[in-house]
Amino acid sequence: MTDKLISGKELAALQKENIKKEVSRLNRQGIYPKLSVIIVGDNPRSLTYVKGKHKDCAECGIISENIEMPENVSQDRLLAEIARLNKDDSVHGILVQLPLPAHIDEYAVINAIGSDKDVDGFTAQNVGNMYLGQDCFIPCTPQGCIDLLEFAGVEISGKDAVVIGRSNIVGRPVTQLLTERNATVTTCHSKTKNIAEKIKNADIVVCCVGKRGYLTGDMLKDGAVVIDVGINRNRDGKLCGDADFNSCIEIASKITPVPGGVGLMTRVNLLKNTVKSAIRHNK
Ligand code: NAP
Repeated sequence: MTDKLISGKELAALQKENIKKEVSRLNRQGIYPKLSVIIVGDNPRSLTYVKGKHKDCAECGIISENIEMPENVSQDRLLAEIARLNKDDSVHGILVQLPLPAHIDEYAVINAIGSDKDVDGFTAQNVGNMYLGQDCFIPCTPQGCIDLLEFAGVEISGKDAVVIGRSNIVGRPVTQLLTERNATVTTCHSKTKNIAEKIKNADIVVCCVGKRGYLTGDMLKDGAVVIDVGINRNRDGKLCGDADFNSCIEIASKITPVPGGVGLMTRVNLLKNTVKSAIRHNK
């Protein structure tokens, strides 16, 4: 069964080694990639994610700073901080940890980030450029799904793929990245009819629903490849994905585990985008 696993752990470790080497090379040229992370409030989940991002940066020699703002910070104050970071030549990547408190307009805040420093790939300009096939920052999780498929040697071109979920940060961009690689993609969501039939015909299933145990082995076509994006907790409080792993691995030809799959690639892609930005800014 282990030969069916697509290991994000293995790929992330390989890519981190490359990033470390690239950062050392840049440092020798006097270039010091730097990521600024803004966190508003003290949402425990956000704090954990942000801590992980700083740890990853430190591991790869990327400078990172944390900018903490209180839950009741005004939108103007937040926008002023982003404007300051946009102008700071030592900063190559700006990330605003989501979600933001309800009184803040997330769209306005994200789009205040200069698209040249938008290492999450969430600004309208980067999203637009991604759809137009232009050079841009690709969002980290969707890119991670593609990285894992390529690492596992899965042929994407000509395949039928089903993406379950259509959020702006995962489902929609995954659909675009697969289409760009010549898959024929069906994007499913909560209003999709006959979803079981669509999944049953898919060679590649990307599950980004956010529901534990959503995808079971009996729903899959024999030999399908499963990319499990979901991050949920099981009854014991342990991390799990959207796929019922034990039944899916029986039928799938390849599957990503949770933890140890897409989540690790999301983290690595943030580092890659930050290094890419540092290189771009010093051209
Ligand atoms: P989201 O914004 O809640 O989107 C969920 C999507 O699933 C929506 O498009 C929704 O349809 C669809 N959906 C819900 N119930 C469904 C059903 N019964 N059948 C078919 N489709 C259904 O979530 P998200 O931000 O995309 O995240 C999805 C999951 O990925 C979460 O578990 C999240 O924690 C995880 N995630 C993981 C990473 C990572 O690095 N691994 C990164 C980001 C997110 P509608 O559009 O019709 O509502």
